[in-house]
Amino acid sequence: MKDGRLFIISAPSGAGKTTLLKKVMPRLERIVFSVSHTTRAPRPGEREGIDYYFISRTVFEEMRDRGAFLEWAEVHDKFYGTSRQEVFARLESGIDVVLDIDVQGAAIIRESGSVDAASIFISPPSLAELERRLRGRAQDSEETIRIRMKNAGKEMQAIGNYQYLIVNEHLEEAAKVLAAIILAERARMRRLPSGLPVPQGAD
Ligand code: 5GP
Repeated sequence: MKDGRLFIISAPSGAGKTTLLKKVMPRLERIVFSVSHTTRAPRPGEREGIDYYFISRTVFEEMRDRGAFLEWAEVHDKFYGTSRQEVFARLESGIDVVLDIDVQGAAIIRESGSVDAASIFISPPSLAELERRLRGRAQDSEETIRIRMKNAGKEMQAIGNYQYLIVNEHLEEAAKVLAAIILAERARMRRLPSGLPVPQGAD
């Protein structure tokens, strides 16, 4: 069995998920971040094919209708989707894949039961701190911040559906916990439906 492990990471925007992932990913080997497709416009500094594939609504709908997405969701009035091909090609070659997706996308994958994933929720220390961070990054309009704060309250209610929770108060501490979760998940015994363990690396 050469399959990589799939990690689902969700957080309200502004919880520090991107910063955290950028800190942790270079410390680990054999793991990649799945680049999603989105209909939202690039933010300053974001690059095509690295942060997202920025596509039109028409192209998104065409991909969605031919089943190209493992999951997709409408977040903050824009569409976001994870390409099936992007994920499965990596998993099949034994590389772990991180999906940075919202709580709706995580629910779709969990409920489909089609792929085994470890799920991690990253929370800000409080909603007040989240608002302070969103304003601090000065990337979004007042209206966008308002929508994001409203959604954050809803997203926090989904925490109970995740296997792991990281409260991102101190970045370095949170990074250590995230790396530890990924390493521990790799060391987990896979089990057959009978309950018998399957040794890692068995073909
Ligand atoms: P942002 O626009 O700030 O980059 O992302 C907004 C939200 O969309 C975040 O919660 C992020 O996790 C989520 N998101 C990004 N890509 C995907 C995706 O492919 N699928 C889903 N369901 N959510 C995504």
